[in-house]
Amino acid sequence: MKIVIVGAGTAGVNAAFWLRQYGYTGEIRLLSNEAVAPYQRPPLSKAFLTSETAASTPLKSEDFYKNNNINISLNTVVVSINVERKVVSAKNGEEYTYDKLILATGANARRLTCEGSELSGVCYLRNIEDAKNLRRKLAESTSVVVLGGGVIGLEVASAAVGLGKKVTVIEAAPRVMARVVTPAAANLVRARLEVEGVEFMLNAKLTSIKGMNGHVDKCVLASGEKIQTDLIVVGIGAIPELGLAVEAALEVSNGVVVNEQMRTSDINIYAIGDCALARNPFFEAMVRLETIHNAVTQAQIVASGICGTSRPTPTPPRFWSDLKGITLQGLGALKDYDKLVVATNTKAVELEVLAYKNEILIATETINLPKRQGLLGESITMPEYQ
Ligand SMILES: Cc1cc2nc3c(=O)[nH]c(=O)nc-3n(C[C@H](O)[C@H](O)[C@H](O)COP(=O)(O)OP(=O)(O)OC[C@H]3O[C@@H](n4cnc5c(N)ncnc54)[C@H](O)[C@@H]3O)c2cc1C
Repeated sequence: MKIVIVGAGTAGVNAAFWLRQYGYTGEIRLLSNEAVAPYQRPPLSKAFLTSETAASTPLKSEDFYKNNNINISLNTVVVSINVERKVVSAKNGEEYTYDKLILATGANARRLTCEGSELSGVCYLRNIEDAKNLRRKLAESTSVVVLGGGVIGLEVASAAVGLGKKVTVIEAAPRVMARVVTPAAANLVRARLEVEGVEFMLNAKLTSIKGMNGHVDKCVLASGEKIQTDLIVVGIGAIPELGLAVEAALEVSNGVVVNEQMRTSDINIYAIGDCALARNPFFEAMVRLETIHNAVTQAQIVASGICGTSRPTPTPPRFWSDLKGITLQGLGALKDYDKLVVATNTKAVELEVLAYKNEILIATETINLPKRQGLLGESITMPEYQ
């Protein structure tokens, strides 16, 4: 039996790990289009940006692949899947046959399309090359505009202000982190970053970027306001990488559609991680999540299904973010809540938010209360698994 995994991010590497943990002894081949050994993405928007010398953080030790007999091919861009012959083809001409194929192709940063988006000084952050480029550009810049007040945008803003830059966050919504946290947590994060010197422009829409000598010079907003800048970091979300799935005529919508075993519309092909649209028992819906917890969980589920072992017990979705003086943690599915209980500590930057639906605790958020968050995790009620 041969298993091919396309994409060696958190999902792909953990799928290989769990296959071996569950006793699979056949061939495993991990195909990565990146040039370096698999690494963790979360540090790229945090410590990596503020240290001149920080290296990438490996997902697994060098020995891991050898010791577990996992073949890993770097610089290998998979360009097509032949579902009849069960073969994937790479750009370099190599072909890999499979019995089971796992797509773990992740997502790409959403690109700007407005006038001026091609200018030098417009940066994105998704992989190690982006992070190195951004770190270099941050060092050279004095004034930084962060486009998008989501988790990654605010982490970059936090790092940039820590480096002494003038930082402005432009956010189209009336508040930051609107997709992931409650107003209470979002407002505390914003207030803390404002204390550090970050300026926020909410309800603000970028319409164009003006350049000088091919480099960004000003952001122009719909209000007509202009902001002088020498670096624009775009953090406006990610788009799942679906090219292979579409080409292979698998069912896709906002992600590769999978069943509860992470199987796609092709019986031999699975999809996991940022690229997969799966039913989540906590959300009670088909969702595509972009978190480490989701990637690791789905890797374990796919491996258990292939190996025929019992499905791991679902655990509540979770995420974290590290900002200047703030550790933000979220647990559960923050959706359709009808009551919020908010507790703040005025003497310290601490917050706890409990979200209820029909008097049942469905999600929690904490700021700078990691131990409390750990305890709360046990209390999240899981809707019956379907
Ligand atoms: C800067 C940053 C910070 C983050 N911080 C946090 C955090 O603090 N907490 C949190 O929970 N989550 C965080 N995330 C999200 C988290 O990193 C992702 O949810 C997770 O990496 C998803 O893993 P994945 O394996 O599905 O996708 P990815 O990690 O994106 O891996 C997919 C891999 O597949 C490769 N690939 C794609 N197409 C092909 C192809 N055709 N051939 C070969 N290879 C291919 C890609 O190049 C990539 O290496 C962060 C993400 C980023 C970008």
